[in-house]
Amino acid sequence: MIKKIDVRTKGRDDLVDITRQVEDALRETGIKDGLCVVYIPHTTAGVTINENADPSVGRDLLMAMARAVPDSLPFTHGEGNSRAHVKASLIGSSASVFVEDGRLRLGTWQGIYLCEFDGPRERRVLVQVIPA
Ligand code: ZN
Repeated sequence: MIKKIDVRTKGRDDLVDITRQVEDALRETGIKDGLCVVYIPHTTAGVTINENADPSVGRDLLMAMARAVPDSLPFTHGEGNSRAHVKASLIGSSASVFVEDGRLRLGTWQGIYLCEFDGPRERRVLVQVIPA
């Protein structure tokens, strides 16, 4: 069964820590061991796993993405948000985490982040846990 998480993003680019919501979705499944897949069904947002201890890491990630994919590139997509499409593809639309004893097997400093590149807006995150 696929669990749904709704997230409200702030700003054009934003990182939202969704680790707690993914843990809640995992708990609801009752699955103790397996693989938790987090999927973002959007073309201008993505998901990544990175440090959740120092908030400056997230700010640096957004800054570096902005430098890597500047608005000044000669984009042709008529909707005018190619910058966001490119960033979403660079980040990727899914992340997988092992599940052990009913818990996400994340590293001590890791969190799961929804990456918004064309906000603010309502986003949906899909979570499915595959039993071992
Ligand atoms: Zn577009």
